[in-house]
Amino acid sequence: MPRPIDGFIFDLDGTVYLGESALPNAVDAIATLRRLSKRVLFVSNKPLEPRENYARKLTKLGIPTEPDDVITSAFVLGYHLSHTEPNLSLYVVGEENLLNELRGHGLKVVNEFLDQSPLDVIQPHGVDAVVVAFDRTLDYRKLNTAYQALVSGARFFATNADKMCPMPGGGIPDAGGTIAALEHMTGRKVELLAGKPSKLIMTVALQRLGLPAERVMMVGDRLETDIFMGQQSGMQTAATMTGASTRADVARMTTPPTYVIENLGDLPGIVAQATQ
Ligand SMILES: [Mg+2]
Repeated sequence: MPRPIDGFIFDLDGTVYLGESALPNAVDAIATLRRLSKRVLFVSNKPLEPRENYARKLTKLGIPTEPDDVITSAFVLGYHLSHTEPNLSLYVVGEENLLNELRGHGLKVVNEFLDQSPLDVIQPHGVDAVVVAFDRTLDYRKLNTAYQALVSGARFFATNADKMCPMPGGGIPDAGGTIAALEHMTGRKVELLAGKPSKLIMTVALQRLGLPAERVMMVGDRLETDIFMGQQSGMQTAATMTGASTRADVARMTTPPTYVIENLGDLPGIVAQATQ
């Protein structure tokens, strides 16, 4: 018996859009769900851009969206730390957007120790925690500073752990390798992951929706992140065939998603079947 659904959490890349174009039926399906008073939230694992940019992009594609309708791994980390560990001084291996996001939540981000040579054993004065993120400005100074802080006992957090970020023509290195490198060097493990597939991003998403997990459906194209974390959080799940996964991938899963959909155009029909 299908369960009623009051809210939807959508992955973005490969689910709602691909590059600069909306995927088939995405615009109409989301408009229909909203007309049926379903709450909608969008999640991105990328810590590179503010929520305003995603809202603007979705609105331009025909899906009117406010920044509050979007969460990113950078937002989730800032939101969580500001509620649980508001007084830590953070050393961030990340880009400008993440620094701004963390500061925007009232958190303290320390500057680079530019008075010390990146070729020496850097003294990471006053660093309580290291935050590792997707960082296209990664250099030896950052790696050295993060390493020294971690071996001195700093806490170890990350926005996201993706190995690579898909790009037209392939992909580029994401945060996963940087986390693995620091884990390898220090023998430690990252203790808090904000983004997918962590439970934290789903917990924050449910708080933003104001709904219990069983009334929410997670919709995404990646089985090992989107679908896995939806299942872990007790949500219904829909795997869309518009991105990273195929029906053959789904067939290999021990716990398949609740629904496999061709594209988002199948969702209004699923909602109609679900008893109210
Ligand atoms: Mg995706």
